[in-house]
Amino acid sequence: LDAPLFSGLPGDIDVSFEFFPPKSEKMEAQLWASIEELAPLDPSFVSVTYGAGGSTRERTHRTVARIVEEAKLPAAAHLTCVDASKTEIREIAERYWEAGVRHIVALRGDPPDSARKFAPHPDGFASAAELVAGLREVADFEISVAAYPETHPQADCPASDLDNLKRKLDAGATRAITQFFFAPDTFFRFRDAARRHGIEAPIVPGILPVTNVARAREFAGLCGAAIPDWMDGLFEGLDRRPAARQLVAATLAAELCRRLYAGGVREYHFYTLNRADLSYAICHMLGRRPRGEADG
Ligand code: FAD
Repeated sequence: LDAPLFSGLPGDIDVSFEFFPPKSEKMEAQLWASIEELAPLDPSFVSVTYGAGGSTRERTHRTVARIVEEAKLPAAAHLTCVDASKTEIREIAERYWEAGVRHIVALRGDPPDSARKFAPHPDGFASAAELVAGLREVADFEISVAAYPETHPQADCPASDLDNLKRKLDAGATRAITQFFFAPDTFFRFRDAARRHGIEAPIVPGILPVTNVARAREFAGLCGAAIPDWMDGLFEGLDRRPAARQLVAATLAAELCRRLYAGGVREYHFYTLNRADLSYAICHMLGRRPRGEADG
């Protein structure tokens, strides 16, 4: 393995953490405990997802505003085009700007019923690229967009998906965050193809520490990511051993991150699923230490 050992990793990385808006008081407590635990790692930003069909519009707003106000962290709000007119989207974006939010993750989104195909609102934005352009007219947001190392399931072909990514960046986005993936080569091939396609913006790998392969497979099926068969084998027999499952999950994700580091990656986005432990452990193994403790 020509990657440096964990002991040699200096933590010279940027990290960001993704959360989803909580549905209950218990989930809210879990979310805030996780944010508190991860905040000392000094993330470049933390982001909050937007539920299918805009179902979490208010909860996403409340969560992002609270992150800015109370946690004093740079927050990014995910925003989609689903079931909203351009005017509604602009109003939402204006409210974010007023609340001190300066970063939007701009997405097309999917219909709430996953069997349906996306159809734009009659007065809405038809794609993430259009949404990016619309947001640029509202305020000077930093804008991130989605990228798909294994190609978005609705794309005609990998090249047309890269054309689309380029359109989103040309429209004013400055960073692409990838769908999750499990093999470093998947990322490197995609990054190389994107560069050949004239895409120069940072492409940040989205890291999903998987503890439940069956659930991950269900989700992956919807979003065009492949769960390798060998992962099933690794989790086999651990159904009733949650602690062992956590260790396996952290080891796998940390190993993926280590190999990405060896290939030049210095920016990571973690899909935390509102839990801090795995993301914290992986950052730690990459050499990341809490603010003020770097030398301790
Ligand atoms: P787009 O970039 O618009 O692309 C959608 C599809 O259309 C692609 O196949 C693209 O190639 C094709 N396409 C677009 N324009 C054209 C064109 N002019 N010609 C030909 N083909 C075209 N979903 C949520 O609901 N809420 C979230 O908070 C959320 N967060 C996400 C965060 C990340 C980092 C990622 C990777 C995904 C997230 N998603 C979220 C999922 C996302 O909404 C879906 O994957 C959705 O199906 C596509 O969104 P997009 O922004 O990539 O769309």
